[in-house]
Amino acid sequence: MKKNIIPQTYQISVAERRKANNHNSFLLWFTGLSGSGKSTIANLVELELHKQGIKTYTLDGDNVRKGLNNDLTFSHQDRTENIRRIAETANLMIDAGIVVLAAFVSPYKKDRENIKNIVKDVNFVEVYVNTSVEECERRDVKGLYKKARAGEIKNMTGISAPYEAPDNPDIEIHTEAITVVNAAKKIIDYITPKLKLNNE
Ligand code: ADP
Repeated sequence: MKKNIIPQTYQISVAERRKANNHNSFLLWFTGLSGSGKSTIANLVELELHKQGIKTYTLDGDNVRKGLNNDLTFSHQDRTENIRRIAETANLMIDAGIVVLAAFVSPYKKDRENIKNIVKDVNFVEVYVNTSVEECERRDVKGLYKKARAGEIKNMTGISAPYEAPDNPDIEIHTEAITVVNAAKKIIDYITPKLKLNNE
């Protein structure tokens, strides 16, 4: 804690906010290559949660880089700072009682470990959207792989920058073997017990 910064305590706690919402709050973190399907699946999961009356918000790579993180590049150092700021933002949202979905390539294990430290283990659900680089390149949703192959983009994850796959994710989705709808169902099934307020 920095000198002369004294945290304030407010009377409404996270437990009270969760109780008012009638559901738990936590972070659902989607990691995987660009074009692997993170945003597509997160979008469907959020839609289903919203239908159930659950308060949600989705943080997405491109959107965050347009605003909060528009000063950051794709260097290793800036990617680490990108993830740190997103984790701190998610942490505030968890405290506000919201189920946060976050879709970020987040290629470094160390950075993903850091998210867990920031939001706490119990509030972190890691979803590994596992799609081969060949398939992502075939989809090339944003045309980024083509640009990377042409040398127009440096530090492209999977091509010219590393992706460190999770060893033990909470949920793993092989998008080449499962439909988007079934992927969303698998995630909803996993988080349904976690949404319940039982231990507060
Ligand atoms: P990311 O957010 O990981 O960069 P996107 O969700 O933007 O990836 O793009 C993934 C693309 O792959 C979409 O065009 C989507 O329709 C397609 N796709 C095909 N099959 C699947 C699947 N089973 N799960 C998720 N996306 C899939």
